[in-house]
Amino acid sequence: MSQRRDFIEGEAVGVLTTEPVSRLLDYLAPAGGVNIGDLVKVPLGPRRVLGVVWGKGTGFDRSKLRPIAAVSDAPPMTHDMLEFLTKVADYNVAPLSQVLKLATRAPGLLDPPAKRKLISLTARPPARMTPARQKVIDFLKSQGNRPFAPVELAQFAGVSAGVVTGLIKQGALLVEDAPRDPPYPRLDPRLKGKDLSEQQAEAALALREAVKSRAYNTTLLKGVTGSGKTEVYLEAVAEVLKQGRQGLVLLPEIALTVDFLERLEARFGARPAEWHSGATMSERRRCWRAVASGEAQLVVGARSALFLPFQDLGLIVVDEEHDGSYKQEEGVCYHARDMAVLRASITGASVVLATATPSLETWANADAGKYTRLDLPERFGTAKLPEMSAIDMRAEPMQPNQWISPTLREEIRKAYAEGSQSLLFLNRRGFAPLTLCRACGEQVGCDSCDARMVEHRFQNRLICHQCGAWKPIPETCPSCEVTGKMAALGPGVERIAEEVAEVFPEARVEILSSDLSDSARGLKARIEAIAAGEADIIIGTQMVAKGHNFPHLTLVGAIDADLGLQGADLRAAEKSFQLIRQVAGRAGRAEKPGRALLQSYQPAHPVIEAILSGDEEAFWQAEAKARMDAHMPPYGRLAAVIVSSPRQEHAFEVATHLARNARPLLAIGAQVLGPAAAPIAKIRDRYRVRLLIKASKAAPLQKALRQWVKPVNKPTNLRIALDIDPQTFF
Ligand code: ADP
Ligand code: ZN
Repeated sequence: MSQRRDFIEGEAVGVLTTEPVSRLLDYLAPAGGVNIGDLVKVPLGPRRVLGVVWGKGTGFDRSKLRPIAAVSDAPPMTHDMLEFLTKVADYNVAPLSQVLKLATRAPGLLDPPAKRKLISLTARPPARMTPARQKVIDFLKSQGNRPFAPVELAQFAGVSAGVVTGLIKQGALLVEDAPRDPPYPRLDPRLKGKDLSEQQAEAALALREAVKSRAYNTTLLKGVTGSGKTEVYLEAVAEVLKQGRQGLVLLPEIALTVDFLERLEARFGARPAEWHSGATMSERRRCWRAVASGEAQLVVGARSALFLPFQDLGLIVVDEEHDGSYKQEEGVCYHARDMAVLRASITGASVVLATATPSLETWANADAGKYTRLDLPERFGTAKLPEMSAIDMRAEPMQPNQWISPTLREEIRKAYAEGSQSLLFLNRRGFAPLTLCRACGEQVGCDSCDARMVEHRFQNRLICHQCGAWKPIPETCPSCEVTGKMAALGPGVERIAEEVAEVFPEARVEILSSDLSDSARGLKARIEAIAAGEADIIIGTQMVAKGHNFPHLTLVGAIDADLGLQGADLRAAEKSFQLIRQVAGRAGRAEKPGRALLQSYQPAHPVIEAILSGDEEAFWQAEAKARMDAHMPPYGRLAAVIVSSPRQEHAFEVATHLARNARPLLAIGAQVLGPAAAPIAKIRDRYRVRLLIKASKAAPLQKALRQWVKPVNKPTNLRIALDIDPQTFF
């Protein structure tokens, strides 16, 4: 191979490693040279570590440089990719080495191209035929001469390994090296999609044009659940495949992926590459490499798929763009939706943000004309949006430890009698959120966190939702040692299930809650069973809000529609609005009309009224105005700082020092709020102190934050975590 190299043997190159070193390290290019973007292995002290050739050497004393130890055979990361990683680090005030780690999370990237042996039939019959040999030949012929691994072949043909070896020696079978990572089947963009309605076709055309431009653009595809957003954006996918560029579809949750992959297979004739935490190591490696080589045409994945090394990315779809799981809140904090827009702007790609209930950020960007907006206001076919109303809980006669009002109960009874499904929604896992001693008032808390333990009766334990620690459900109070006075207070989905079982003993009840779903596959089976009508009453947490299609579902009851309204969260109203609208949208997706009933103690609350009236634009306008008046995102900027340490006084000392020495922030007109103990003041035995930085939209916040945090002397074991555009405030 005589390719041109960016650096020839012996030149000094700057390598970025995934080690916590804040600068490029210089090495000598090895024999054969290297390119910018090449994945390499370099010596660092006694170890060899992963890195990427980032550019020229930084001028370090040449005589001290060591050569690069190995170069991956994977194609180099593109210049666009390196620019993307750099900008992600800048925007999120994160170390570049940590961001590189996000982009190299697959095993064996530096291994030599692994091969495996495959055996196929030649045209030459063996000199001597035996019944066993005939069996092997017949088997291969019955398989259309498809090649097989040696062990498999012997096993499937029902012969000993020696028979296969004999045939190879005789030249009747041929052994060849094949790559370890099998290639992905080709997707065919020319297969026909569904016949689109006029509205859908119009939106699809606009998206196709956007992709065709090969220039950066972002479109908000806003459509009620069931309006066919997926069908529409698949047309954009078809267009990018046709161009020969790569596509990426981001989904918030694995549960969606399974259904979705089948849908894609139906549309394009083959399954795309997958990238998510549930994928095996070899699947990850296969996906990473195929993306890097440009062979993978389409990837469906969770948020971290955004960091795959695409050769030529032409389209990114962010499905359910408002979903909270797009925000990564540990390690490098980033918002995958926002970083998708960044990546597309670098590579000249289209972004499609699909949702029924946009985040206020996206709504405002569309409102300001930065994003194109396409609306699908109607459901596809005969399906109608559910009729929504509130149940005024102040007027309902409720018994103690009863959470389903007589009115809702009657509606469930009617649906059940008609053979329709009901869904009861409560965004609380477990049985009861609080375990209290009626003798002394003790509330059972987690030993490592400032959090109450939640009773999970099915697992027969109390679980901390912060750290996952658990204890047995106590019979004796851990504080006053009185026995038999421990009480479970408040409802979780398990308790609602118990109540349903009492009222409707005959009904088939299913609970959908993330802690109860064994595996992605198990969950898929349960969802399919529900969709097929194998349950009468479904009880679920926010997991049910997303994407699942239950054609027999006609009634949705929100057990506590007020739950999201309280709280100091800036987005409480927005999130509540999105969640309840999404859940209500589950009802009546097929021919049967749907109803949604919201149990509320404050039915006149503006958010509840907005949900019921369906006047979404009025809701967004009001939210936007309130945020604008308060200079809050998306009209102002926030950054959160969490200082955490096993020693409370250290956390407070450093946070106070930061607050008092905030000159770089004050210089850009930013405000520093705090320090204050975080609402959850201790997690996993670390005390947490928060600061909140508020700045105007135009202020150079990231640069100021770096200058501010850099000179701080930290005791060992103290961490300062920065979160730009924070979504959660605990
Ligand atoms: P959304 O993503 O907006 O919730 P989907 O694209 O999932 O909507 O569509 C909802 C249901 O309606 C799906 O089962 C889909 O296959 C069906 N559907 C939507 N548009 C069409 C169409 N033009 N022809 C046939 N079926 C459609
Ligand atoms: Zn805990």
